[in-house]
Amino acid sequence: MEVVDSDPNQAPGENRPKRKVKLIMLRYKTNYNLVLKESNEKYPNSINKLIGEYIRITPISEDQHREITAPFKMNGEEFYAILPPSKRPYKVVLKGLPASTDIDEIKNDLANQGVAVSKVAQLTQRKSKFPLPMFLLEVRKNVPDSRDILDVSNCCYMSITWDSFRRRPGATQCYNCNYFHHSSQYCDIKTRCLKCAQEHRTSDCPIKERTENPECINCKTKGHMANSKQCPKYPKTNPKKGDPIQNNTTQNKPNANQTQNTPKPVTTNNSYANVAKIGHQRSARKTESEQTTKRSEPDSTTKTQNPSSCSEIILAIRDFKNFFSNHPEHLSLGKALRNATSEEEKVDIFYEAMASISNLPT
Ligand SMILES: [Zn+2]
Ligand SMILES: [Zn+2]
Ligand SMILES: [Zn+2]
Repeated sequence: MEVVDSDPNQAPGENRPKRKVKLIMLRYKTNYNLVLKESNEKYPNSINKLIGEYIRITPISEDQHREITAPFKMNGEEFYAILPPSKRPYKVVLKGLPASTDIDEIKNDLANQGVAVSKVAQLTQRKSKFPLPMFLLEVRKNVPDSRDILDVSNCCYMSITWDSFRRRPGATQCYNCNYFHHSSQYCDIKTRCLKCAQEHRTSDCPIKERTENPECINCKTKGHMANSKQCPKYPKTNPKKGDPIQNNTTQNKPNANQTQNTPKPVTTNNSYANVAKIGHQRSARKTESEQTTKRSEPDSTTKTQNPSSCSEIILAIRDFKNFFSNHPEHLSLGKALRNATSEEEKVDIFYEAMASISNLPT
């Protein structure tokens, strides 16, 4: 019988008092009892439970967490940590700055305004990796005297707006080990390359081209990679209650030092009309490698699949119709798009055309 990975981030039960300490998810090995024996002798009050292919250890304090994991690290045991909800960062999307804005400048500017910002990453188009004029921010919660990020209305001398962050659908996959339900930040599992199973990150793999008949590192069968939904080991997760995909205003609520100004969700960011606006910035900035490879990061391409964006598409088509009637010289774009052999090529042709149009003297 296939054991379906349950999502360990859900556990322990929601009704219990709020967990304050990081959980340890120890990857199951046949000698697990020896490993647990040692830690249990020292810390008999921690709770160990088998969850799928992991043993979930619940320490009673942060100190105990450190004491349990120190020998694990020394002995090369494979585990990852799950942060308690109060320690998970608040995520929000910043809009209103050009796509070429330096992420460090954003970070410094917000830090100077008293925001406890811990990370800034630029959102990109999924396929083309084209940098969008949107930035995902992570803010530490419960930082004394920090300013509510949603009260900030200026950054880098520009007026800005905030939008809810929607996670990409599907399971979170660690881009260090390529197992699921955690991110590489808290991962102490051996690095495994998706393409060749060697101990390096997929982005550092010497194999740059697409593998014809890849072998999956998670289920060991041929024909797909471990990040494919075809894989029998790919978790079949149901959307969580309050999942931002379903209801993007509940989960992203700020707490404690954040106010209730829940921003509206990011929608239809990659409509052609919007894309056209940023087309001329294409060569201005290369995407951070982290953002192009981290699968647990968002990308805004998912939004076009939302049926509610149909009206946006219709509006965009109307804009284009008007544009081409005013500039018939650009109709060759349509032909080039029809001749393109892949979606990626189409996107490239489109951006190039937009870049050349926006550089025209007006
Ligand atoms: Zn991992
Ligand atoms: Zn490799
Ligand atoms: Zn597989």
